[in-house]
Amino acid sequence: MTTEVKDTIEIDGSQGEGGGQILRTALALSLITGRAFSLVNIRAKRPKPGLMRQHLACVQAAVAVGGGAVHCHALGGDGAPAQIGATQLVFTPGPVAGGDYAFAVGSAGSCMLVLQTVLWPLAMATQPSTLTLRGGTHNPMAPSYTFLSHLAPYFAGAGPALFEMELGRHGFYPAGGGEVQVRIQPPAGALSPIALTRRGALVQAWAECLHAGIPRSVAERELGVLQRALDWQPDQLRNRGLRSNEGPGNALQVVLQFEHIAEVLTAFGDKGVSAEEVARQVLREVQAYLAHSAPVGEHLADQLMLPLALAGLQGNKGQYWATTWSEHARTNARVIEQFLPVRFTTQALDGGVLVGMAAASARWS
Ligand code: ATP
Repeated sequence: MTTEVKDTIEIDGSQGEGGGQILRTALALSLITGRAFSLVNIRAKRPKPGLMRQHLACVQAAVAVGGGAVHCHALGGDGAPAQIGATQLVFTPGPVAGGDYAFAVGSAGSCMLVLQTVLWPLAMATQPSTLTLRGGTHNPMAPSYTFLSHLAPYFAGAGPALFEMELGRHGFYPAGGGEVQVRIQPPAGALSPIALTRRGALVQAWAECLHAGIPRSVAERELGVLQRALDWQPDQLRNRGLRSNEGPGNALQVVLQFEHIAEVLTAFGDKGVSAEEVARQVLREVQAYLAHSAPVGEHLADQLMLPLALAGLQGNKGQYWATTWSEHARTNARVIEQFLPVRFTTQALDGGVLVGMAAASARWS
């Protein structure tokens, strides 16, 4: 895919949500469209603005899949290669090549957000890819491995999975050290349309408590709160102790598997937060989701935006019904609309939002 217009896109990183998603979406779409961008005020609305290690890992991963430093450039405001702390970035993409890549965040920062950066460029490449990702696999404020591994079916249509993931080792904040293998198989033809407007019947629901290097009783207390509040059977509760060298860490995840959608909700143990409070956090999210009818939860709504736009431009228009259209999503929509000739449409529907897209012009080929 190429666009006719190749001028540099100017992006303000302080707009809307003002966080790291603006950077990741811009990197992905720059690689896909071949359009350079200049980003200022990077993560201006975060307590520590600028590129942190995990964001720099996303930039470096984008350079690697975009032909490496010979073809693809990521420069900070001083004209030198971008570094931690940079608040400006000029990114010039090169040709995306599928292949074998290894990316390490180098801290407990989420390696799943590195995947978010390169997944769609590599899914639209001509060759398949394998990725080895190292860093955090289950982080607050990021999609977890478990969350992303439930996503693949939405993009496959009737064909084979577009990507598959395998977890070698969990990584939690602050130790990190997780490892995930990802295989990306670009589809033979166009991307499948995203069509998620019904949940269907609830097929299965379970809670899984991942814990490493903390007392097993913490997991028992967390699962106990969910069991009592949701009236779940013992076989719906999974107490999964991990090797202690994968920790310390504690993630309490709930999977609600419906016919057409799986919602994954997570809360994390933290110092000074009781096991009961961790469980109540995820319980509130479970109850809110179950009280709604829309299939797509707030965070899944974010992950579906790029494939909705890309598939739509290939003639496979889709739509999804989301429980929430957050400031995060609105900001992401504006960045996508800067790169692609699309306009996101939102329509209130039964307490949620029906998300679709309209072509803004016909200059995409
Ligand atoms: P920062 O804003 O500090 O740079 P960030 O790089 O993590 O942090 P955000 O802009 O906050 O950037 O984006 C976080 C991403 O993680 C979004 O895609 C969001 O949907 C996703 N996310 C956050 N919380 C969850 C969750 N509980 N489950 C699944 N995905 C999540």
